Amino acid sequence: MRFLPVFLDLQTGPVLLIGAGELARAKMRLLTAAGARVRWYATDGNHDVSGLDAAEAARIELAEGDPLAADLRGVIAILCAGAGDIGTAMSARAKAVGLPVNVMDDLLHSTFIFPAIVDRGDVVVAVGTGGASPVVARRVRERIEAALPARIGDLATFIGRWRKSIHGRIPEFPLRRRFWERVVDGPIGALVLAGRGDEAEAALKDIPDPSAFAGAQASGQAEGRVTLVGAGPGDPDLLTIKALRALQDADVVFYDELVSSEILDRARRDASRVPVGRRVGKPGIGQDAINKLLIEAAKSGQRAVRLKGGDPFVFGRGGEEVEALREAGVAYSVVPGITAGLGAAAQFEVPLTFRHEALRITFLTAHKAKDAESVDWSTLTDEKMTVVVYMGMTAAPSVRAGLLAAGRSPQTPVGVFARVTRTDAQAAVGTLDELPALVRQIDGGPAILIIGDVVAHSAPWRNSNLAQLVSYFQVAAE
Ligand code: SAH
Repeated sequence: MRFLPVFLDLQTGPVLLIGAGELARAKMRLLTAAGARVRWYATDGNHDVSGLDAAEAARIELAEGDPLAADLRGVIAILCAGAGDIGTAMSARAKAVGLPVNVMDDLLHSTFIFPAIVDRGDVVVAVGTGGASPVVARRVRERIEAALPARIGDLATFIGRWRKSIHGRIPEFPLRRRFWERVVDGPIGALVLAGRGDEAEAALKDIPDPSAFAGAQASGQAEGRVTLVGAGPGDPDLLTIKALRALQDADVVFYDELVSSEILDRARRDASRVPVGRRVGKPGIGQDAINKLLIEAAKSGQRAVRLKGGDPFVFGRGGEEVEALREAGVAYSVVPGITAGLGAAAQFEVPLTFRHEALRITFLTAHKAKDAESVDWSTLTDEKMTVVVYMGMTAAPSVRAGLLAAGRSPQTPVGVFARVTRTDAQAAVGTLDELPALVRQIDGGPAILIIGDVVAHSAPWRNSNLAQLVSYFQVAAE
């Protein structure tokens, strides 16, 4: 991000506009519609302002003379559109005195650029691409336009009117934020969006105790809670809408090592981020310490998100955390995520079940050879069962030995799927007999093993057979 979107108060001074023709007029329309005072140097001498309404035209001051000699006192920004070489010279002047300047279609000489704008009254969305592609920015804007309720601006205005009085009645910031969330997300917000502002006004007036409405505990403190959120296997677009909402509402996010920074970036900007996972080879802070952190956060009135790779309840120790929270009397909820096995299945086209071929699925973990020894492989001999192994890279030789000893065919198709749904995802497919060798082809985890006839339907298997490779493997870069 090179350009930070900020919103400029146009009431504080005039904007200098230098240029001519349709380009300059388009910028003038934008500025005057936003309430700006514009001091315009028409570089072709044509000061025609037809097309603007009277109020807008009244805010335009027609300037004469050399713009390079213009008095810059009080000016809040400089804009050159259709100004030719004067743009470059003007940019140098503006930079010398530290004034923001935009030279149209000239990033080099601009210190600010215009975003694509979604304008819904008090709700304004700015979309930028760092000047790289206005067309992409416009497409993004179209999507936002389509997603936003038509009266979203009315909702902001409505809240703006009440802000001060509620501020007086709920001085605590976290509680006040929750009050407004309940208004926005609840029936009052719905009334405003439905165009029934009067009823919304009356409903807000009727709230007898705003603090209680915001969910305050008796102490006046906001009620804290913990949400266990499944972050999915890596691709941030696989977050559920509920996960996104929990992240956006969070005061603090406790996250595992498996959670990518792209996913963390979807959390509220000012939420604190606390890593609590273990790294490979390094111990983490331990489950008891994590439980304690979660409980403390909730008890101090915070909304904590416990963000875990995949799904919280699939080899994620979510069950233990929920038990600890329950015992401590802390409010909690669980948002499921796409578990790694399902991510791998979708990305590499492994149908985990298949009519007549695969009727059952087992998810198991075999972290170390010792874990693999404790698995009762005799329950996994059914050829119509797909076996999905988590944390199975190191224990791959024991997984192979266990399944072979239990009578599974050495020719059973298997796949090792690493870093699934990320941009550097990788797959190696072959037979059960070859499993340890397949694992060695993988350039690092996390990786999941899928064992069963269904792997023969997968994309890497199909590709390797087409290529008639002796050993079936393929690097799948997205
Ligand atoms: N709760 C997680 C699993 C945590 S256990 C889930 O539901 O997915 C950690 C194991 O999950 C890793 O050792 C690996 O086997 C698997 N895993 C997690 N993310 C993965 C990914 N992006 N690609 C492949 N395997 C993954």
